[in-house]
Amino acid sequence: MSNIMEKLELTAQSMYCKKIEELTPSELHLSLGKAVMGEIADNWAASKAKHNSERRAYYFSAEFLMGRMMYNNLYCLGILDDVKKMLKKKGVDINVFEDIDDAALGNGGLGRLAACYLDSAATMEVPLDGYGIRYKYGLFKQLIKDGYQVEVADDWQRFDDPWCLRREDEAVTVSFKGQTVKAVPYDMAVIGCKTTNINTLRLWQAEAINEFDFQAFNNTEYNRAVQEKNDAENITKVLYPNDNKYEGKVLRLKQQYFFCSASLQDIMRRYKAKHGNDFSFFAKENAIQLNDTHPVCSIPELVRLLMNEGMNFDEAFEIARKTCAYTNHTVLGEALEKWHADLMMQVIPEIYHIICLIANKLQEELTAKGISEDMKAKMRIVDANTVHMARLATYAGTYVNGVAKLHTEILKDDVLKEWYQVYPERFQNKTNGITQRRWLGLCNPELAALITEKVGSDNWLIDLSLLSKLNDCIDAKTITKFNTIKKKKKVQLAEYIKKMDGVEINPDSIYDIQVKRLHEYKRQLLNAFSIMTIYFRIKEGKLPNWTPTTFIFGAKAAPGYARAKAIIKYINEIADLVNNDPDTKDKLKVVFISNYNVSYAEKIVVAADLSEQTSTAGLEASGTGNMKFMLNGALTLGTYDGANIEIAECAGEENEYIFGARVEDIERLKKEGYDPKKLYEANPEIKKVVDTLIDGTFDDDGAQGEGSFAELHNALINGTSWQEADHYFHIYDLPLYVETKIRANKDYANRKEFGKKCLINIANAGKFSSDRAIVEYAKDIWHTSYRKV
Ligand SMILES: *Cc1c(COP(=O)(O)O)cnc(C)c1O
Repeated sequence: MSNIMEKLELTAQSMYCKKIEELTPSELHLSLGKAVMGEIADNWAASKAKHNSERRAYYFSAEFLMGRMMYNNLYCLGILDDVKKMLKKKGVDINVFEDIDDAALGNGGLGRLAACYLDSAATMEVPLDGYGIRYKYGLFKQLIKDGYQVEVADDWQRFDDPWCLRREDEAVTVSFKGQTVKAVPYDMAVIGCKTTNINTLRLWQAEAINEFDFQAFNNTEYNRAVQEKNDAENITKVLYPNDNKYEGKVLRLKQQYFFCSASLQDIMRRYKAKHGNDFSFFAKENAIQLNDTHPVCSIPELVRLLMNEGMNFDEAFEIARKTCAYTNHTVLGEALEKWHADLMMQVIPEIYHIICLIANKLQEELTAKGISEDMKAKMRIVDANTVHMARLATYAGTYVNGVAKLHTEILKDDVLKEWYQVYPERFQNKTNGITQRRWLGLCNPELAALITEKVGSDNWLIDLSLLSKLNDCIDAKTITKFNTIKKKKKVQLAEYIKKMDGVEINPDSIYDIQVKRLHEYKRQLLNAFSIMTIYFRIKEGKLPNWTPTTFIFGAKAAPGYARAKAIIKYINEIADLVNNDPDTKDKLKVVFISNYNVSYAEKIVVAADLSEQTSTAGLEASGTGNMKFMLNGALTLGTYDGANIEIAECAGEENEYIFGARVEDIERLKKEGYDPKKLYEANPEIKKVVDTLIDGTFDDDGAQGEGSFAELHNALINGTSWQEADHYFHIYDLPLYVETKIRANKDYANRKEFGKKCLINIANAGKFSSDRAIVEYAKDIWHTSYRKV
């Protein structure tokens, strides 16, 4: 420990000729980061050597939403409090690291899941390393101006980054048609908790092959060299900001192939150092998990690399198939990646050629199995000049898994149903999880201390099932303690929101929170409509016993997603109305916080009373935000969807607020012919609320009747040429939702009973640890070693 401070002192001296107390926040971040990296170097090397001697797994993901590293690394090393104290002695507040940007190399749930899995693998001693892309610019930063989202570039490396080691010596080259670039690895240490094990996240950065001597060039040479450099660097310049929507662009395909090829070359090089050209151990020693279809180019690329080593296609394919496994994250049609064959041919023709060989092999295999022509047609990997990546991944892998029970069932009987019929043994469920180190220990030390007291040790940090011990000690005193902690976290969040967004909120009000990416299927608009319904009822004196409530929203919209942006504006217009209306301003407050990210999430989930999880049933594959809230004692106000179902199963449905159409209801409604216009016209309350989009209540920039709010209204009531009216069933669910919300509001008044429900949620959150999930992957899919706790 004192070691760290000594190392810090030396680093500060050698890098900046300064004493610790003289460093700027970014200098302190860099020197302390370097000191920590020095401290862990031996353990890291030992872990690498161990992993190299056994069967190991790799997590391939285009996104890793890591968040801030400093606090978490110190926490997992068990020295956060000591460093805090030692810095304080020097007059330095550890909160200066709040100025350091998050590492936001991901969009939302999928990227955060990858980060939680790395954390859990390190702690559970699973030999799992991550492979991804070192984007120069991560997910944009969001400002709210006049109620609209404004995007700003995320230059997260501008103060340098002590957590990544550039490994120039292990660079490889990646070739596209007409372009070859260098892939330079940057290694990030992933530090386990209560173990010496340290795993690695290797992120690739694209650079030009040649180091140019620009001065030696004439004009033409100069321009060509600059062009070559820019073209190379562009590949890893920016993260695509879409969540749950693929974008069939050349640059995106290049990003995907770039990191898959570089990662596989890396794995091959290590393998060849051990076994030379004998590839018979490859699939025995390596497992590759494909996080969604983004890394699915890995399958043909591995085949290509093996064929380059002299293998024939069938042998190479067999190895690739035994090595890779695929996690599906969505059932949304617009998110299932399909690449144009022409585009693929133009960028990575060799890979396209191998995909065609795989596609043909599948058809032969299906014929041999006696599968009907009709079914064979539905399973084509290359169909109508389009490459279906989910099909490729399902065919050319060991297993395919969904991310919550319901989601896996939907894969089996809908999205991949033909595949389930032919290859039922390949399908598995792996319900998502979150790491309790970051999402409880680090972000809620007060609650963590209470839990440690009740459980009898802090071993819940590495075995979250121990939370069930809490079930035996939910008494009046513990409830009061919990409520006191919750209040403290609510005060802290109020201060933070005041600082970040300039809005004052009342910590004695209910905090009803919806934070996640903005998407129609997540239905932030349903929440907005419910607030308007309650607003009108309060104004009409119909809700005399309403407990004051603060509705907090946080969400980034993909910059090209017009409806999502309109919904942000609409919520901000509602905030403007209800926060300033003398009839409601003491009862309702609406806040749209800006730039929701991992660090903001750490402050939000701890302060929530109600966790809004309102996706249309069947459409949220799992959700992980729901788990963060549950672990910190918020009750789920949500649909019977994704992991909400398992949350309700674990904690008891009577301890959540579950509402609305279930999957079977949605199916029935679709069959019967869902007519939202009829419901809207028959229910004056719904009509009044939905019509606030068009009746002049709100302003979407003077475009009344023709602007983005009118477009939302029209999509709900009339539908569009590409989508039936109210595709996400807002209008059907609205009355059920409002009544459930009012019931939760009433229940909250009984602080003891409500607090008891919160504690029951915490006590039954053990299942939602990513430690449980990662050990399931290790046991059932990767067949690697793992820690027995
Ligand atoms: C957990 C998390 C998500 C995922 O939230 P869902 O509610 O599951 O969609 C998205 N963004 C951030 C920053 C997160 O921490």
